Amino acid sequence: MAAKDTIAAIATAHGRSGIGVVRVSGPALDVLIEAIIGRPLSPRRAVRARFLDREGGTIDEGIALYFAAPRSYTGEDVLELHGHGSPVIMQLLLTRCIEVGARIAEPGEFTKRAFLNDKLDLAQAEGVADLIDSTTVEAARCAMRSLQGEFSERIHDLVRALTELRMRVEATLDFPEEEIDFLAQPDVKGHIEQMRRKLETVLLASRQGRLLREGMHIVLAGQPNVGKSSLLNRMAGEELAIVTEIAGTTRDAVRETIDIGGIPAHIIDTAGLHDSVDPVERIGIARTWTAIENADLVVLLMDSTRGETDSDRAIFSRLPQRLPRFRVMNKIDLLPRAASVESVDGATVVWLSAKTGAGVEALQNALLKAVGWREQGEGLFMARARHLQALEKTCGHLRAAGDHGRALELLAEELRLAQEALATITGEFTADDLLGEIFSRFCIGK
Ligand code: GDP
Repeated sequence: MAAKDTIAAIATAHGRSGIGVVRVSGPALDVLIEAIIGRPLSPRRAVRARFLDREGGTIDEGIALYFAAPRSYTGEDVLELHGHGSPVIMQLLLTRCIEVGARIAEPGEFTKRAFLNDKLDLAQAEGVADLIDSTTVEAARCAMRSLQGEFSERIHDLVRALTELRMRVEATLDFPEEEIDFLAQPDVKGHIEQMRRKLETVLLASRQGRLLREGMHIVLAGQPNVGKSSLLNRMAGEELAIVTEIAGTTRDAVRETIDIGGIPAHIIDTAGLHDSVDPVERIGIARTWTAIENADLVVLLMDSTRGETDSDRAIFSRLPQRLPRFRVMNKIDLLPRAASVESVDGATVVWLSAKTGAGVEALQNALLKAVGWREQGEGLFMARARHLQALEKTCGHLRAAGDHGRALELLAEELRLAQEALATITGEFTADDLLGEIFSRFCIGK
């Protein structure tokens, strides 16, 4: 599906940096290359060049890299101009590309073209965005696996098995006298069941992958000076606390994102939850409450030398009942007491010291367990809500197929629907508006 126009974007982050890259993709770039570089470029060779303005003056000097279609990221001609990483230079280079016929790329448009030109499938394209958005080492590894096609391969395997089964069922429909025989073969039901089990395994790994991608949302409550910052720093440990904006998260209310055992943990701060007449503050407070509604668990931190206060009780009573609760008693180094995790009246009580670190790992493990994280190591996929929905839908159709007994037409139809649902993951049956939605969340220049 060849695009007719040429797109250009600054591919590196905005700001000062050692180098910056402007990327261009289009059906034929010779005229643009001639205008900016002043001579043709051989494909796949890094060339030192001057990047020229309209009058032949030098905008910048750097490396030009040309990839000829179809051997490029997008499958089209691609030009990369590696210049000095100044926002001004980058803007001048981009403007120059526009001057000679390119237009500014939309977010994700390079990857969208790669998808449309069959350079990668939809799940891999999403892997690209997830890799860029990943906030923990685990998440990055997992996204890389999706990008390299491991997730797609598992899906293709299932689609292949489904296709085979459909062919057998449909062949039997064409020769009805064999119908009885076919159903009598125990392996038909067995096959469906086996496939459903495989699907369940992928679903389980994907649920974990979604947790890895989206992280857990923890409401952190506690009076001033009980050690909230100390605990967060201790949990963030050696890993840098990485704060990013992830589309779809209620980021306004999130104080920071830390890495707990590889899972991004978005900490929702209750400090701002007080009565206020200020309209801006009220918006912030409303957002915090929305974030709390969608949180995975609540942690109430207390100073163990003082115990629970009336204000703690007041905060706790306002938080949604359905959320798993953790009462964390900090500063046990000041008490004659060892670290421990206990279950008291439906809440988990953890005794620890943010100062010495005693009990912190136990808290982390308890938090991970509460959100359903299981240590899996390899084999996780960076899954999104839409993948889970497609897998669940496929499971539903397979279950229905297994229940249809002797009604072969119905069974065939369920298998068809199952295959269709599954294929939306890799993008074989995917509506244009969904594609638009997926790629619009990418960053510019990717
Ligand atoms: P926040 O206001 O809740 O964020 O509390 P901070 O993390 O700023 O800690 C308040 C004070 O308590 C600081 O002086 C910390 O050094 C101290 N503190 C925090 N955790 C512990 C702990 O586990 N043991 C002891 N002894 N002091 C702690």
